[in-house]
Amino acid sequence: MEMIKIAEDVAFNILKQAVIYLPEDVKQALKRAYAEETSETGKTQLKAILDNIELAEKYQAPVCQDTGTIIFYVKAGAKAKNLDKIEEALVKATRRATAEVPLRPNAVDPFTQKNSGDNTGRLIPYINWEIVLGDSVELTIMTKGGGSENVCVSGMLVPGEGIKGLKKFVVDAVIKAGAQPCPPTILGIAMGGGADIAMKLAKKALLRPLNEPNPDPEIAKIEREIFEAANMTGIGPMGLGGKTTVLGVHIDYAFRHPASFPAAVAFNCWAARKATAKINADGTVEYLTHKMKK
Ligand code: SF4
Repeated sequence: MEMIKIAEDVAFNILKQAVIYLPEDVKQALKRAYAEETSETGKTQLKAILDNIELAEKYQAPVCQDTGTIIFYVKAGAKAKNLDKIEEALVKATRRATAEVPLRPNAVDPFTQKNSGDNTGRLIPYINWEIVLGDSVELTIMTKGGGSENVCVSGMLVPGEGIKGLKKFVVDAVIKAGAQPCPPTILGIAMGGGADIAMKLAKKALLRPLNEPNPDPEIAKIEREIFEAANMTGIGPMGLGGKTTVLGVHIDYAFRHPASFPAAVAFNCWAARKATAKINADGTVEYLTHKMKK
């Protein structure tokens, strides 16, 4: 099969997998939260979420009616062929998935307010490119819900306040967000670089599996502290009270200008949808996060 067709099929498959089957790390975290939640209302909400996940899998239907904005992360091997065709393949896959899965059409022209009807439009699906060694192409899909996107924040902190200032910034964002991002959420946090770089890193940090703390023990400690502080807010599942407000906290960073302390918090809702597959140079495909579910 032609490489371009393989890329389209793989993108379609991971898009379908992502919106129907939540990744294992998210499911396990939700199950653990259900077992440990002490608020009756919180427990009821988590039970409804877990039942919803089961029903989505049983009926092969999207796990949430908002199937999100379509965002791809592409790790392109420097020696991979046909990289110039990947964008076209991802757009075609998005159109096909919108019609066949189906997905909710979520791409609106900000000037005319007209919905394109197929989840595509200028720069949508959005593609984050990364050049890596080798000749394979790895595709990751994130379908990003609007409710959790609406509370993402970036800001310029006071450099002198350092990590203490960052913690306050994040916990304030969680309190302000309240029920809006459909908690329990996952927090992607980043600092440094610049305003745009911090938000890009924060969003990408949402892709890290929940059971993987930051490899740097000092940063992992800050992740744990923010996790505990966020869960002390009592916002709880779906904002109805309880001790499960966040499922995980992932921090990334870039070095910063001495005078600037850019920081960003990206929220993902409990429907944290992502899937990854790798296309090898010989055309074979490895589905890395989901078994090949059709
Ligand atoms: S924020 Fe997430 S769970 Fe809530 S409606 Fe949007 S996609 Fe669904």
